[in-house]
Amino acid sequence: MKRPNIVILGAGFGGLITAVNLQKTLAAGDANITLINKHDYHYQTTWLHEPAAGTMNPDQARVYINDIVNPSRVKFVKGIVDRVDTAGKQVMLEDGSVVEYDYVVFGLGGVPETFGIPGLKEHAMTISSLNSVRKIKEHIEYSFAQYKTNGSSDNSFVTIVVGGAGFTGVEFLGEIVNRIPELCKQYDVPREAVRIVNIEAAPTVLPGFDPELTTYAQKWLERKGVEMKLGNGIKGVEPGIVTFGPLKGETTETIKANTIIWTGGVSGSPIIEKSGFEAVRNRVMVEADNRAPGHDNVFIIGDCSAVMDPASNRPYPPTAQIATQQAHNVAKNIAALINGKSTSKFTYESKGTVASLGHNDGIGIVMGKKIFGRNASFMKKVIDNKHFIELKKYGLVLKKGKF
Ligand code: FAD
Repeated sequence: MKRPNIVILGAGFGGLITAVNLQKTLAAGDANITLINKHDYHYQTTWLHEPAAGTMNPDQARVYINDIVNPSRVKFVKGIVDRVDTAGKQVMLEDGSVVEYDYVVFGLGGVPETFGIPGLKEHAMTISSLNSVRKIKEHIEYSFAQYKTNGSSDNSFVTIVVGGAGFTGVEFLGEIVNRIPELCKQYDVPREAVRIVNIEAAPTVLPGFDPELTTYAQKWLERKGVEMKLGNGIKGVEPGIVTFGPLKGETTETIKANTIIWTGGVSGSPIIEKSGFEAVRNRVMVEADNRAPGHDNVFIIGDCSAVMDPASNRPYPPTAQIATQQAHNVAKNIAALINGKSTSKFTYESKGTVASLGHNDGIGIVMGKKIFGRNASFMKKVIDNKHFIELKKYGLVLKKGKF
């Protein structure tokens, strides 16, 4: 009998853990496993705020795929997926090559969502890939250098506006405020010239999170000098200028800023729409076993998928935690189908949520308990290192882990 072809798209949190689990669960002769990713490395998306602020070397956040998977069991293809033809069971790559599948797993992650705000896509930077964060770090350093070379009178060179105070925005702010003293010293910029402004449409940071924790985070950021413009939305961006104001109402203000970073939203990969799936912002509401509705051999996980939270009757927010748990379920389900068994239902179990505030502080809820300060920071590092354990690469904890 012909061996089935399992093709995994994307080597992020969801895709890579699916591959590692399939490699462990299936015997060598059970199936051909192919993993397709646009780079030959995996990066820890959840760490990207650190290299963006320049507090971590970007290389610490990346691991080469062939150091994770067993190349004799998982064929890695470096390529960019263009679309999937579900009727013909084929994956089309941008270079024109075609990969046939019997089972396909979408783990292509997300892209920044700018909600049609004029100029945001064109003039703001985003924390979305290893190269995007390299660009942010270099841009901030170059802007600090320009402050002096332009005669020290234009503070906009050292003004950083961050749109959004969700986890990505707050964690980035937590890193950059700690780096400012070093940047000021290095580029001879007086601290009082630097402005860091956060614009968030909700009335609090980390909307929807526990109020005691959000108050802690907000006060921490304010103490470090962040100007919080809560209850305000970005209404437009032009090169070096952000216009913002209350969402309901005509009043607006502007800030001149050489660095504008947008962290306010994520939608699923555009490949979802291109491949003809019904989705909201490219997130497909998946069946109980993570299959796409109407497609017995298509699994969708991570930021490309939506899983309903029965408590709130809304989809869970897209996180690495849910992508990882879906990956375990999908690997088990594909193995079950190959062995003629039925699939099992996916149930998300939140193990808690922790946000860092720089290297030594943070907030979170773990096992129903609120944690703050150094305890939260310690727990965040444990969670970050756990990813390497999930990938079954214990040595990486010592080599790349956080302590
Ligand atoms: P990803 O991990 O993003 O992987 C997608 C992969 O697909 C990437 O390797 C990408 O290169 C590849 N790819 C994309 N398009 C193509 C294509 N066309 N062809 C080939 N390959 C492609 N979540 C948490 O749970 N906890 C946190 O603390 C947390 N912090 C975060 C901090 C930041 C700064 C950010 C940006 C996100 C954070 N998240 C956090 C969210 C989390 O990172 C995502 O939800 C998670 O990475 C989604 O996993 P995924 O497998 O769907 O996609």
